[in-house]
Amino acid sequence: MSSLLEVRETGKYGKGCFALAHFPARKKIALFSGEVVRGSRRIEARLRKQEAIKIIRLAEDYAIDGAVGGDATAYINHSCSPNAFMRVVPGDKIAFFAVRDIQPGEEITMDYRDPYHPEECKCGAENCRSNKKPRRTSQKKKS
Ligand SMILES: [Zn+2]
Repeated sequence: MSSLLEVRETGKYGKGCFALAHFPARKKIALFSGEVVRGSRRIEARLRKQEAIKIIRLAEDYAIDGAVGGDATAYINHSCSPNAFMRVVPGDKIAFFAVRDIQPGEEITMDYRDPYHPEECKCGAENCRSNKKPRRTSQKKKS
């Protein structure tokens, strides 16, 4: 459990994860903590139940659920222009690293990959994917 991070209200996504310390670029911020979930059916059942996704899936049948036993890292929100990224580290754990220098008081964000990218993104980044996304009309072909 890291005391270098704190959960606060963001005003956009509800709660977020904020830095309490300076993290230099490329340095590890924290490990993602939570309960290990094994089995694709159990992972999918949990994903369906969570309104805000706190599960990080490392494999089809292996995931870590920050909603159970997690800490501030479970509140890291999406941004299309993030200041952190995640990587699998030895021991099948997930760690967050700083993309650039992060100052105390900044919200830690990362780029959620599909399919977890929010449908309507509120990150406010200039290169936000929601700004560019052309409106798709739903025309699914059925064969
Ligand atoms: Zn965005």
